[in-house]
Amino acid sequence: MIIVLKSDVTQNQIDHITEKIKSLGLTPMISKGVEKSIIGVIGEEDILRSQPLEVFPGIEKVIPILAPYKLVSREFKSEDTVIDIKGVCIGGKKVVNIAGPCAVESYEQLKSIAEAIKKAGSVVLRGGAFKPRTSPYSFQGLGEEGLKILRRVGDELNMVIVTEIMDARDLVLIEKYADIIQIGARNMQNFTLLREVGLSKKPVLLKRGISATIKEFLMAAEYILSGGNFQVMLCERGIRTFETETRFTLDINAISVIKQKSHLPVIVDPSHGTGKWNLVAAAARASIAAGADGLMIEVHNSPEDASSDGEQSLVPEKYIELVQTLRSVAKAVGRDL
Ligand code: PEP
Ligand code: MN
Repeated sequence: MIIVLKSDVTQNQIDHITEKIKSLGLTPMISKGVEKSIIGVIGEEDILRSQPLEVFPGIEKVIPILAPYKLVSREFKSEDTVIDIKGVCIGGKKVVNIAGPCAVESYEQLKSIAEAIKKAGSVVLRGGAFKPRTSPYSFQGLGEEGLKILRRVGDELNMVIVTEIMDARDLVLIEKYADIIQIGARNMQNFTLLREVGLSKKPVLLKRGISATIKEFLMAAEYILSGGNFQVMLCERGIRTFETETRFTLDINAISVIKQKSHLPVIVDPSHGTGKWNLVAAAARASIAAGADGLMIEVHNSPEDASSDGEQSLVPEKYIELVQTLRSVAKAVGRDL
């Protein structure tokens, strides 16, 4: 349920309303807009239906939110959410390019990749330090050592860094190094982890589960927002279908579906979405054309030696070439890049 406040509402009136909501065992979430402020009410809405809320001073109207996800929905917030991370805005007119290796392997490896992607104009560096691998015998990431390398390279090149959290017990450690916390596809419904990052002050990049519906994806994001963390980006990274030519099937439809249903920024990962480096460029261009707010692309200076996902990684030259072509696609759909 959304309570729309009158434009001349006073702080005393807001306090009076929120106290009433709390006394009913519900949680008020205030969103202050330029034109109007609203209060989202989270919890068992039926309790409120019997309350004559409209008579409270300061309330203009009360609107029920029909979608099961509330805070994530456009009904709750009609303007796009723009997340500002050290001056890099995600969700605005400018499409953001996030790039970097699947996993951090060494300082030298990361530094050379980061320099190349920065040359292409990308200012957000990705790299896994804790890797969710199908096999327990595969490379699992460098752990804290990887985080230190990522932070060092990020600081040296003045780039924002994003890295994956796999275990809620690592949150304090990851918060110490990362600018954006990534939740991987395999953890999209790890509700304990979602609740933990919901309490964090760091922005979160939530990836869509391998077999998750869009509704399940948005409900997962709702866990994070309901904890108070509104800085969430949603990442479409391909879903599992009957198709075997590609690693996953990139769901281009999801971009516009999510943009219609939610105010949160949408990032697309065409690397995992295709699984093949020579399919990444086309999928990246299609994603921007479909309205993505950003891309996350795996880049490696020596894909044949990569400790993970070499087959879907672009060499730096190919990445730089791709970004050139993305500029014209972005322009064609009224975006900057
Ligand atoms: C990744 O970004 O390297 C990754 C493991 O992605 P996903 O969780 O989408 O598989
Ligand atoms: Mn990867």
